[in-house]
Amino acid sequence: MLNVENKVITITGASSGIGEATAKLLAANGAKVVLGARRTDKLEQIVKEIRTSGGTAEFKVVDVTDRQDMKAFIHFAKDKFDRVDVIFNNAGVMPLSLLNALKVDEWDKMINVNIHGVLNGIAAVLPIMEAQGGGQIINTASIAAHQVGPTSAVYSATKYAVWAISDGLRQESKNIRVTIISPGVVETELGSDITDESTKGFLKELRKTALKPEAIANAVLYAVSQPDDVDVNEIVVRPTASAF
Ligand code: NDP
Repeated sequence: MLNVENKVITITGASSGIGEATAKLLAANGAKVVLGARRTDKLEQIVKEIRTSGGTAEFKVVDVTDRQDMKAFIHFAKDKFDRVDVIFNNAGVMPLSLLNALKVDEWDKMINVNIHGVLNGIAAVLPIMEAQGGGQIINTASIAAHQVGPTSAVYSATKYAVWAISDGLRQESKNIRVTIISPGVVETELGSDITDESTKGFLKELRKTALKPEAIANAVLYAVSQPDDVDVNEIVVRPTASAF
């Protein structure tokens, strides 16, 4: 596909869900994809599948909350393929709960993965993209970057932050395209770390109209495939039947 073939595309949160689907779709369209997450077995399996289908893929284990680890992930991609055209900062966690449950460690985890993880990705690629004279930074926000509800205060706060960081970066960038991907409810492993029983039931209800991760992968492909002077700033993708 135009403007996708041979691009070096790094993807965090690539071991499942939206990241996995996006890695497979971009590779099927000729991109060289570099997958990052913490679960080696999952990454190995996905890379194997992509290669078996004729695609080009590498992986490196990365914890996005660790700035040096993220830098090593991006430099791994650059060493392999000489450049980094795109980063898809997609890793995220969502242990929803009411604030008065005081799950303060889960608040910290969301802030670390969802905000620091994205900032670490930006810090790792910016010098490379500026030296190359271009690139694209795609950050996964959410419909939770546009609305707050009970149990989602901290999660939404992290996604509002991703939105704000992305839009600030866009305004500061002349050669680097910045894209926010804001999915509605998607059937993935997200939320499997919810520890509050009533919140688990709420998510199960929401998931009844969930999209497949491929719906979000299509949005990423669209944003990447545009000409270099076209920056798709945000794509919001909701299930047709969902009010949220
Ligand atoms: P998944 O749980 O399937 O994927 C999350 C990914 O993040 C996994 O690959 C996980 O891999 C990775 N991850 C988590 N913590 C870390 C870490 N510290 N370092 C590196 N990787 C990490 O969920 P989704 O695919 O749904 O989530 C992808 C993104 O989409 C998230 O940012 C999420 O907030 C967002 N989103 C999802 C929606 C949905 O309904 N599913 C709706 C709106 C937004 P591993 O455990 O191997 O490290």
